[in-house]
Formats: sequence, structure tokens, C-alpha cells
Amino acid sequence: MTVTPILMAGTDLDVVNGARASLNVEHQTLTDADKGLINRLVADGHTEPLRGVWAKFRVVCSIKIARQMMTHKRYLAINEWSSRYSEMPSAFIDPPLRKQVGKPMDYTFEPLHPDVHAHLTGVVQESYAASYAAYREILAGGGSREDAAYVLPMGLQTALIMSGDLYGWLRFLARRAHAHAQLEGQQDAYAIEGHLRRIVPVTLNAWDAAGRRAL
Ligand SMILES: Cc1cc2nc3c(=O)[nH]c(=O)nc-3n(C[C@H](O)[C@H](O)[C@H](O)COP(=O)(O)OP(=O)(O)OC[C@H]3O[C@@H](n4cnc5c(N)ncnc54)[C@H](O)[C@@H]3O)c2cc1C
Repeated sequence: MTVTPILMAGTDLDVVNGARASLNVEHQTLTDADKGLINRLVADGHTEPLRGVWAKFRVVCSIKIARQMMTHKRYLAINEWSSRYSEMPSAFIDPPLRKQVGKPMDYTFEPLHPDVHAHLTGVVQESYAASYAAYREILAGGGSREDAAYVLPMGLQTALIMSGDLYGWLRFLARRAHAHAQLEGQQDAYAIEGHLRRIVPVTLNAWDAAGRRAL
């Protein structure tokens, strides 16, 4: 999986100046008072100034994680690589293969015995290879790309273009840069958070202090 920034627009100053528009004031540099204002905006859920900062990323992930990303489409724009328009390459994401311990909604993961892990890794690889062989066979037999793709597994690599404003990204991070989210999606989300933190460090620190919640 990889996360690549395509375009990021805005700084902490844009958040501040969005808020200070109510006073018809614009700052050229970030003051300590501005940092305090950002803390207050985030803590109180005054979200509109966050919408003046915007970012777009290319996310390479499994189809399984792409499905989860799609649940955030109400506030992020998401386009996905099409298996109708492309022949999909033989590229798969390897699951971490851990043991789930505990009850539904309240469980943790533990490592599998190395021998078991090695065996299951082989099972995954065989399954991926068999699915991909079936895909090629259907294409070779004249089946369409969109029909052949039915036999491809959730571990197949896909690519998304995800974009949105900082309000949407914080809502996304609250859900996915979180221990409850599936590991692969968590890693994508933390990578996105790292990129956002470079352009709006004060706002991200304020969000940390406010409990990293959906605003
Ligand atoms: C760990 C985890 C596990 C998950 N498991 C599953 C699963 O098993 N199955 C599954 O289907 N999904 C699952 N989801 C997805 C989850 O249910 C949400 O769809 C997803 O997290 C987006 O939720 P959200 O609150 O960020 O956004 P939304 O629910 O899209 O809300 C965004 C904003 O829109 C507003 N809004 C939403 N609906 C309306 C409406 N009808 N009218 C007016 N305003 C509205 C909300 O109040 C909010 O302000 C999971 C998510 C996570 C993080």
C-alpha cells in the first residue's frame, strides 16, 4: 500500500483567516493568539474555517480497504481504478495474518505461531495465483474485462484518488487513524495524517488535544 500526495492547498493561516473573516481581518503570519484561536475552533467544533484547506492523495490499497474508504464518500470525493476499462495486473496486498482474540466489537490481535503464519501465507499466495489464473483464462476465452473481474479477490491491489477539505479529512482520520480500524486502512490513514500534519501542524495538534474526534 502507498499514499502519495497529489495536491495540498492551505496552511494553518488559512484556517485562522477563514475564522477572522468574521472581523474582516486577515493575518500574514501566524501569531500565538492565532494558535489559541485554532485550538478554540477545533475544541468547539467551529468547522467552516477548516474547509478552506484541501488535499488530494493517490492511495494504492486492496479492494477490501477501498470498500471501506467508500463509506467516507459523503465528505470525501473518491475515484477508483476500473476493472472494466483496464486489465488488472497480478498485484495483491498480503494480509498481516494475525489471530483475533476476544468478542465482537471488543477484540485484539495476537501473532500466530511462525510455522502457522508461514503455512497460511502459502495458502494466501496459492489462492491469489489461482484466482488470477482464472481471470486470465476468462479473458483469453473472450470474456469481457468486467465479467472476468468477478473472480478476482478482495486482496487485489486497486488505486483510489481521494480528495476533500480538512473538515472531511479529520472526520475520516477520526474513524480510520484509529486502533479499531483494519490495519491496512489504519496505515493509509496515518500516512495521510502525516502529510496533512506538514501543512497544518497547529490545527492537527489542536485536533489531537480535542481528542481526535469527528467534528
Ligand atoms: C472500524 C469501523 C468499522 C466499520 N464497519 C462497518 C461495517 O461493518 N459495515 C458497514 O456498512 N460500515 C462499516 N463502517 C462504516 C461506518 O458505518 C460509516 O459509514 C463510516 O465510518 C462513515 O461514517 P461517518 O460518521 O464518518 O460519516 P457519515 O455517516 O457519512 O456522516 C457524515 C456527516 O453526514 C451527516 N449525515 C449522515 N447521514 C445523514 C442523513 N441521512 N441526513 C443528514 N445528515 C446525515 C452526519 O451527521 C455527519 O455529519 C465501519 C467504520 C469503521 C471506522
